[in-house]
This record gives sequence, structure tokens and C-alpha cells, in this order.
Amino acid sequence: MAGNADAHLGEEDGVSHTPHRPVDIAALFSELAGQERTTVRLHPRPGRPGPEESSIGGPLLWPATELWPRCDHSGHPTTPPMVAVAQLYARDVPGLPVPSGADICQVLWCPTWDHQPDYVPRLAVRWRDSRHDPGMGGDLATAPPVDPVTADEDFIPQPCSVSPEQTIDYPDWSELNEELRQRLEVWEQDSGWSYAYQLGAAPGTKVGGWPEWMQDPEWPTCPRGHPMDHLLTIASWEYDAESQRTWKPRDLADGDAGLMLGDAGSVYIFTCVTCDDRPIASLLQAS
Ligand SMILES: [Zn+2]
Ligand SMILES: [Zn+2]
Repeated sequence: MAGNADAHLGEEDGVSHTPHRPVDIAALFSELAGQERTTVRLHPRPGRPGPEESSIGGPLLWPATELWPRCDHSGHPTTPPMVAVAQLYARDVPGLPVPSGADICQVLWCPTWDHQPDYVPRLAVRWRDSRHDPGMGGDLATAPPVDPVTADEDFIPQPCSVSPEQTIDYPDWSELNEELRQRLEVWEQDSGWSYAYQLGAAPGTKVGGWPEWMQDPEWPTCPRGHPMDHLLTIASWEYDAESQRTWKPRDLADGDAGLMLGDAGSVYIFTCVTCDDRPIASLLQAS
């Protein structure tokens, strides 16, 4: 999902939900010119998505003949089944970095935060070919019941439909150098805008673009040493009291997937687009 400088994507074709940016920040701070990246805000809202649709927490297009992922973390008394977190069809998400032959990204995780020592939910990511994978065209798997001993409701998304929307991100505040931050702070006092909350990286559940970090940036590298790209953020909230000023959708009802990832945290998922097998890394940050 390389940067795309076509500003205001989506605003002409009727799928815009995010308000127009109130300030052209890259015109005011030239260091930001060329740093913009396209992100796809997913705007999950409770609904009844089907297995042939993109969703958060919805049913997966998963053949009954294929084993359902389970978590083998040593801290669990059993191997609990993972739960569906996201299913993204490439047709719905421009720039989704599906490997050759695949057209879906499926994300599952083990719904508990008790994964010591790092507390990151253990993930399974499947890049799937919806037409040609073995078992396609036959029965679909039904998600197994969650394990009552380890499962935590806060980590189980309720089924949501998505409204993918391309917007422009700038780097999160935490990625900026000290000199630029100081100049932004002076400008913020005059203008009343907050770069961190209102003009930088889009908050909420999104694909590609710049991560909206809760803590310091933690860009991973793949097992072969390549820098990884941000694939997907699963966020507890789409916006907060500060960020709603510029990021609250103008035309969508309030609502979210009902997640509380740590202290209103986010799970960040990365992939390597240089490696054909698209290795995955993930981490959790909370405020
Ligand atoms: Zn687990
Ligand atoms: Zn790699």
C-alpha cells in the first residue's frame, strides 16, 4: 500500500465518510509533503455479514474440510479455538497486499489477553483463494464454541459489516522528529488543531497507511530481515473525544465491534510484501 498522493480519495465517488481535512498540513510543514500514505478505514458497525462478504468478527469463508486454528500457547490448560477477527476481500479493500493467487485475508486470534510474556493475542492469518482453495464449493466450517476457561469477551468482536473508505494518513506524532514537533506545537497553539489527534494518522480499525501508535513506534522486520508494512490495525474505538473532531464519520451511526483490547488499546498486524509467503508480525499497545 504505497503512498498515493491523489488527495481526497473517495470524496467524489460517494463513499466518503470522513470529513474533508480541515487543514492541508503538508502545505504548512513541507517535511510532511510526500509522507502521505493511503489507508482504508473500515468503519465496522454491528450487522449480519455473510461468509462471502468482508467483515469484522463475521463468519469466515472457511472450508469444513480444513482444520480450524487453535492456540497452543503454553499458558493455556487446553488448545482453545481462535475466533474470527477480520475477513477482507481484495475487491473491497484497495491495495490489500494479497499474495499471488489469493483474494482474501482472514485474521483469527485467541481471545484472551493472558499471553505472557508480551500479552499479544496469538494470531492466525490465512491468505485464501475464494475460488480455488481445496474444499471450496463444499460445506463451510462453523466456528467452534469459544473456550469458557480462557476466552475474554473483551477480545471477541461482535459481527460487524464494514464500509471501507480510502483516506490519507500522515505519520503518527510519535514518528516525527523533535524539531518538527516543536514547530507543530507552536502552530497548534495558534490554530487550535491537534496534529496527533486530528491531522496525522487516522484512528480506528484500518488497513495500510501509518499506524496510529498508542506508545512509541515498533516497526518489525520479517524473518529474512525486510522492513514490514502495516497490514491492519484492530482498534478498540474508532475515535475518541479529541479525534472525533476530524475523524468521526459524518454519515454512519455510532457503534463498534465491542472490543476492549487492554486499556482501550489496539492490535497492530504487519506483513512483508517482499516475501511471497507474506509473513506476519503483531503487537498490542494500550494507553
Ligand atoms: Zn491463546
Ligand atoms: Zn520479508
